[in-house]
Amino acid sequence: MSDTRTNLIGLDRAELTAEMAAFGEKPFRARQIWQAMYFQGVADFSDMTTLSKDLRARLAERYSIARPDISRALVSEDNSRKWLLRFADGNQAETVFIPEDDRGALCVSSQVGCTLTCSFCHTGTQRLVRNLTAGEIVAQVMIARDATGEWPSAQEDRLMSNIVMMGMGEPLLNYDNVAKALGIVMDGEGIAISKRRITLSTSGVVPLIRRCGEELGVNLAISLHAPTDELRDVLVPINKRYPIAELLQACREYPGSSNARRITFEYVMLNGINDSPAEAHELVRLVKDIPAKFNLIPFNPWPGAIYTCSSNNAMHRFAKILNDAGLSAPIRVPRGRDIMAACGQLKSASQHARLKANAPAA
Ligand code: SAH
Ligand code: SF4
Repeated sequence: MSDTRTNLIGLDRAELTAEMAAFGEKPFRARQIWQAMYFQGVADFSDMTTLSKDLRARLAERYSIARPDISRALVSEDNSRKWLLRFADGNQAETVFIPEDDRGALCVSSQVGCTLTCSFCHTGTQRLVRNLTAGEIVAQVMIARDATGEWPSAQEDRLMSNIVMMGMGEPLLNYDNVAKALGIVMDGEGIAISKRRITLSTSGVVPLIRRCGEELGVNLAISLHAPTDELRDVLVPINKRYPIAELLQACREYPGSSNARRITFEYVMLNGINDSPAEAHELVRLVKDIPAKFNLIPFNPWPGAIYTCSSNNAMHRFAKILNDAGLSAPIRVPRGRDIMAACGQLKSASQHARLKANAPAA
């Protein structure tokens, strides 16, 4: 039987306060509940010991703080972890945790699928698309916290220290829910991950870039992937609407960017497509007046993809040209390949597995 209670995860502070007022409770109760949910990580009202037994029981009748179902949880040989989450309507999205020595980043999804059709990205081939709600976005962070055992929210030495909006979907095409979710995640009396530790990646929805900087103040990453409009039109089709010159102008004007807080340009390395020295030189020219750094991403192949990953030689030659121009350009080490931890891969992998299982025996 489906749960008809209202899930409180995803309400912002004002909404929670209003909800509790309608329920007959004072603002300080809303604050206690907020702290229990987002600072202590409590998943059941019966564990909210600061509240009376009677109130806990009444809350549990009317509300829930349930996480989405985890339909698969995978741990890679390199300790990255991946969760495929099933939401109340049966739609699924994934979250990936990538631990490093002294920190770790959680890669959060913003949509089920993606309406954009970047030609190298598997997420863009998924037919089903809907925006995730603020609650579904926040819940991804809570599930990772549950798994890392980092409740209550400590401020220091957290395993899960950073958040990157780089999972499935285009976060700026779901701006309101992403903004609300990040507001909840950044709240100092809750999960408390600061804007300096959050990066939003966009394929280039130019009109919303400024708003993202002004209202959220998070770090910006741009999926550039090509130095010319001709090539970028093919790889990242939203470029036809917002071409490179407009995109880079939005980067120049991005509030809060500086040499200490550079804009990251992501660049997927596609063999023979965008990986020549001439293209690296062109990138240097393009970003010369922007506080920029690059992230070179080895292409992660998927069944049916028309591209292959650049050779190691080509990637190193490319990186060196950027480095020689004073630009940081690490080649991202692929993580979690054994659990297909790159964007949009696990969900489709499980679909493939299901298709196989359903196929008639040969
Ligand atoms: N929609 C947003 C964020 C999600 S994608 C965006 O496009 O920026 C996160 C990053 O992974 C993007 O830079 C995207 O271009 C890259 N990516 C997608 N598919 C990939 C693949 N198969 N191999 C390597 N990188 C990929
Ligand atoms: Fe969507 Fe980003 Fe994939 Fe492009 S790269 S299809 S914008 S998720």
